[in-house]
Amino acid sequence: MRLLPQADWQNRSIWLIIHGRAICTARQPRCLDCPIAAPCPSHPGR
Ligand code: SF4
Repeated sequence: MRLLPQADWQNRSIWLIIHGRAICTARQPRCLDCPIAAPCPSHPGR
């Protein structure tokens, strides 16, 4: 978990759920607005 400090691990699940609802939606992910686009292997620019 190099991208997330260990102190924040407790909240990672809820953050992923919020990210999935707000940015990375299943039908139309907002990759251009995504704060974690750089390490994402699914980003369309890869
Ligand atoms: S860059 Fe990756 S995590 Fe971000 S919205 Fe696109 S597919 Fe989702």
